[in-house]
Amino acid sequence: MAKPKSLAFGVVGYPIGHSLSPLLHEFLLEAIQLNGRFELFEIPPQQFEEKIRALKAGGIRGFSVTIPFKEQIISLLDELDERAQRAGAVNVVLHEKNRLLGFNTDGTGFERALAFHNLEVSKKQALILGAGGAARAVAAALIRGGIRKIYLANRTTVRALELVEHLSSASGFFNFITVNLQHAEILKLLESVDFVINATPVGMWPDSAAAPFEFPKTDDNLIAIDLIYNPLPTRFLRSASAAGLAVMDGLDMLIFQGIAAMRIWSGREIDANSVYPHLRKLLIEKLKNYEPA
Ligand code: NAP
Repeated sequence: MAKPKSLAFGVVGYPIGHSLSPLLHEFLLEAIQLNGRFELFEIPPQQFEEKIRALKAGGIRGFSVTIPFKEQIISLLDELDERAQRAGAVNVVLHEKNRLLGFNTDGTGFERALAFHNLEVSKKQALILGAGGAARAVAAALIRGGIRKIYLANRTTVRALELVEHLSSASGFFNFITVNLQHAEILKLLESVDFVINATPVGMWPDSAAAPFEFPKTDDNLIAIDLIYNPLPTRFLRSASAAGLAVMDGLDMLIFQGIAAMRIWSGREIDANSVYPHLRKLLIEKLKNYEPA
């Protein structure tokens, strides 16, 4: 009997050398016994469109999209699912019947990670740092979860306003407040929010010594979340733990978004509970190879 054709998958981004996606997805391919390979495609931004067309022409089955292309990819796609439309950001593309279909599993991954840690966002208030693709997916997920108010702090104000405009019209949620990314303003806000979520790359390897800010000692019931998973924990989360706060790192979101992506590409069910502990262990081992900056 002829061997089934090997399917091609990958991740597009820039830069992308630190990506854990190949390890994660090769583990999942093996777990569901699908014959496939997963590659890294580092694409300089000026070549983005041309390279995506080449991947399509080359017959790729699906790819993840990471920093900084999650919004830019949209104009090259034929269709978006509801989550991607709402977030205005795409992190998973499926190539089917000569069409490129866009999905957002970052929001799904974030929701599953919250649920895994028994964190409830309904009627709570959150401060999100950043307004890129990940911030959009996280804000959309918080809205789905019934959040009461979202404060948004971004370096570039116009990008924060674009996020607010998009999500307000896509979801009918208007309780956004854009704030300055200055320390004094952020520290004051910590007294009134339940969650503070770093959705910027500040503190990501190799700039592991950086943090958006340091937490002061506090009695607040604040939960600090960093979407970054390299290093584990980030300086941001170390500072939160030292201040006595509960924390959640970005690795579980990565794992759960990856499982959701593989479900889309393969059309197969994957038992998240059975693969999760193995994946977390495997990825943590891999992260030990990165020298601190
Ligand atoms: P993105 O679309 O490029 O957005 C990056 C955001 O961070 C923008 O709002 C940008 O502000 C801000 N930013 C960048 N450098 C900054 C700096 N030096 N100081 C202050 N703000 C800065 O990236 P993304 O896809 O949203 O990813 C953001 C982070 O989330 C990355 O670290 C990524 O690894 C992580 N992430 C994790 C997961 C997971 O599964 N755990 C999933 C997705 C993303 P401007 O608008 O001013 O440029």
